[in-house]
Amino acid sequence: MFTSLSENVEDYDKITFGDNSKGKVEGLGKIEISSEYSISNKANLQACLFSKNSMGWLWHRRLAHVGMSTLKKLMKKDLVRGLKDITFEKDKLCSACQAGKQVANTHPNKTFMSTSRPLELLHMDLFGPTTYTSIDGNNYGFVIVDDFSRYTWVYFLEDKTEVAHVFSKFAKRAQNEFNTSIVKIRSDNGREFDNTNIEEYCDEVGIKHEFSATYTPQQNGVVERKNRTLITLARSMLDEYGTSEKFWAEAINTTCYASNWLYPHHLLDKTPYELPNVRKPNISYFWVFGCKCYIYKKRQQLDKFQRRCDIGFLLDYSSKSKAYRVFKMPPAWLKRRMMWNLMNLMAPKEYMLMLWI
Ligand SMILES: [Zn+2]
Repeated sequence: MFTSLSENVEDYDKITFGDNSKGKVEGLGKIEISSEYSISNKANLQACLFSKNSMGWLWHRRLAHVGMSTLKKLMKKDLVRGLKDITFEKDKLCSACQAGKQVANTHPNKTFMSTSRPLELLHMDLFGPTTYTSIDGNNYGFVIVDDFSRYTWVYFLEDKTEVAHVFSKFAKRAQNEFNTSIVKIRSDNGREFDNTNIEEYCDEVGIKHEFSATYTPQQNGVVERKNRTLITLARSMLDEYGTSEKFWAEAINTTCYASNWLYPHHLLDKTPYELPNVRKPNISYFWVFGCKCYIYKKRQQLDKFQRRCDIGFLLDYSSKSKAYRVFKMPPAWLKRRMMWNLMNLMAPKEYMLMLWI
């Protein structure tokens, strides 16, 4: 029951309950919780954990908080490997998604294909500078979306001036991999690519640069939509285990990785991964972003009472090889200095580990 009530609710609009029903916030107050219903009550806690552990919802969390309708579609149409015999509970609420404020897609999807092969047209956008510098020292995200397959690449930059260099390296690698050439790139007419020298690079190698502001809103929507999805999902993932916002680049990287594996092309009914690779992606090794992990010390001479593992948390997946990137928690005596470093500087490289799957 409320012990006091104030009507100062400027920051709050509505409330969503566990059964997805909504209510209006009338006021803010202090409440007293009777011990009978407190979280320390064992029976209640077990029931709560049991419902959270439903496999459908676990996969929702493992796969970067992908929508349940997409998960159902992936399973029904057998578009990925590793997702079988899972049931999905309807109308459940994910607190991380609520915190990330998922919004419905308002742009209508295109009903025709305007490209016939990968790299015919690339959509590009640049976001930043971000509030926090990432742990690798980056302040910008450079997003590239292939119009045909919707395959997405994201690169993190310290400064805008790196765009042309990063794009030239990307172009060489992508053209080799797909064995075809990039015809044109499209960005919106904002000034985000000013002073990046990308124009000079495109002129030099014969790639046409279009600006989508002169086209219809649906055309410039491709990369904007992708950007919004990546950022929204990343926010949900950071919220899930209260991971520091300094890890925003790792969260975006994971959402980008997952979106290539998961979001089927609405006209071709294949995932972006399957279109160029001609095989279904295997998602069985995905884990929840930020989840705790134990890193066992295999080859070290350990004292009888010395602990056999370090504790860390999962960050993202390597794009080059089948590996997890993990942040190893520093020993207790280093923690205070480490936390200061995390908030103010960069995390020391020795705490970022690559673990082979
Ligand atoms: Zn969620």
